[in-house]
Amino acid sequence: MSSAPTATTDAVLIGSGIMSASLGALLKRLDPGLSIQVFEAADELAYEASNGWNNAGTGHAGICELSYTPARAVDGTVDVSKAVDIFQEFEQSLQFWAHAVESGMITGPGEFIHSVQHISFVHGAEQVDYLRARHAGMVAHPFFRSLEFTTDPARIAAWAPLLIEGRDPAVPVAATKMDGGTDVNFGVIARKLLAWLAAQPGCAVAAGHKVVGLAKAGTGWDVTMRARATGAERTVRAKFVFVGAGGGTLPLLQQADLPEARGLGCFPIGGQWLVCDDPAIVARHAAKVYGQNLPEAPTMAMPHLDTRILDGKKTLLFGPYAKWTTRFLHRTGSWTDLPGSVRPHNLMTLLNIGATNLPLVRYLVRQGVQSMEDRLRVLRIFWPAARAEDWRLVDAGIRVQAIKRTDGEAGIVHYGTEVLTSADRTLSALLGASPGASTCVHIVTEVVARCFPHLLAGEQGRQRMQALVPTHGVDYRPPENAVRFNALATAARRTLGLA
Ligand SMILES: Cc1cc2nc3c(=O)[nH]c(=O)nc-3n(C[C@H](O)[C@H](O)[C@H](O)COP(=O)(O)OP(=O)(O)OC[C@H]3O[C@@H](n4cnc5c(N)ncnc54)[C@H](O)[C@@H]3O)c2cc1C
Repeated sequence: MSSAPTATTDAVLIGSGIMSASLGALLKRLDPGLSIQVFEAADELAYEASNGWNNAGTGHAGICELSYTPARAVDGTVDVSKAVDIFQEFEQSLQFWAHAVESGMITGPGEFIHSVQHISFVHGAEQVDYLRARHAGMVAHPFFRSLEFTTDPARIAAWAPLLIEGRDPAVPVAATKMDGGTDVNFGVIARKLLAWLAAQPGCAVAAGHKVVGLAKAGTGWDVTMRARATGAERTVRAKFVFVGAGGGTLPLLQQADLPEARGLGCFPIGGQWLVCDDPAIVARHAAKVYGQNLPEAPTMAMPHLDTRILDGKKTLLFGPYAKWTTRFLHRTGSWTDLPGSVRPHNLMTLLNIGATNLPLVRYLVRQGVQSMEDRLRVLRIFWPAARAEDWRLVDAGIRVQAIKRTDGEAGIVHYGTEVLTSADRTLSALLGASPGASTCVHIVTEVVARCFPHLLAGEQGRQRMQALVPTHGVDYRPPENAVRFNALATAARRTLGLA
């Protein structure tokens, strides 16, 4: 129930993760006259999925993630088109962050982004053939021309010694490596962009304010929020609302009673990391190493061995392992989130999904009861000499997968992020998880294009946007355009202090 609005604003952004932060910054840059308010339920900003420890921090650029490059059944060649798309989308994020640094919006890129080589590593003859075919497909495109391939264990050991230490020499191995990869702390970027936004005229960012009501009012929305500290409620009338609430998005869409959201359900999958703090081990690994999917695991649970720079310190993370949970949010969620999201219109969707995904259900149950030795078994696929005593288990973020009525046969684990927009374009919401944060600028540009089309219209709009993201609106996928793309990318990387 909303009270009478005490203020009006052009835009309310719900949630303080990388998505709202990017949208807020982009919108204010495109139209400095806009008034924008951000509300965050937790007491700190960007401490849910975007927080450094809650995600893998991979700047997903398609270099090492094998799930983006499926083998073609007909001839065994590999389709790299998704990797090319994601590379291009991630570069747009880099360009906007570089613009933010160059224009003085934010400082200290070294606090949120670092160069880390991206490696794919496989074992077994079949996977070696797959990786060779993938490499052939990738290097044909200028984005990935410097990707190196080897089946030589000594060369792999030179790239990442842990991968070879203690390994059975009889089993064939292969790896690819490219140096332009990154480790990113999306939480730090979000906080920096929000600090800039909060200092702009007509804008405000409020932590500790949970949005508890979202109701259509005239041509806009009444957004009611409750202060965590006092329990006091107030309502703001907004012309436009962005629901960037991560796991909190579905409950808010249900509040808004959006016809577009009917039948929609969500299913949370928790994550866990193994963390190694031993400086001697951490110093011996400087890469993000993605491997092949485990046969029984959903794609998002593909584990990787990652160098991370978190809280100013280099560390080593392995995972994620899946964990059964019914919470949609770590910090402000509760075990009732999943049952509380069930409605008559999405009940059948959820039941159908459970029935058609028994292997996944079995996988989650097994993951939930696994021992440290089970976890080590998976880690040893990457580092055969790993010892349990060097690792501790911590929680990662929760991925809340969107389930649509039409998805009954397709399975619940979608690899994708989706923007849902109301028919009158006064509300946009983000669903899904991956490739997520890395492509945040591309995603929120889509929101701007749908809901603020006048800002991007015509030659003026194109120039306005290209001042922030130079590759906006230009398709650099064709190899002949990629040379210019690479030049723009190099400039952005230099500004961000990347090698
Ligand atoms: C295990 C794991 C690994 C991942 N690895 C990667 C990776 O390597 N690379 C990558 O690019 N992406 C990765 N991701 C995905 C990435 O973390 C997300 O796509 C991204 O952080 C989502 O940002 P967001 O702003 O949408 O959500 P969030 O960062 O979750 O922000 C949403 C915010 O909304 C707030 N909120 C919720 N409800 C309300 C409400 N009612 N009122 C006010 N505020 C509310 C929450 O408290 C939260 O702060 C990973 C995710 C997980 C879980």
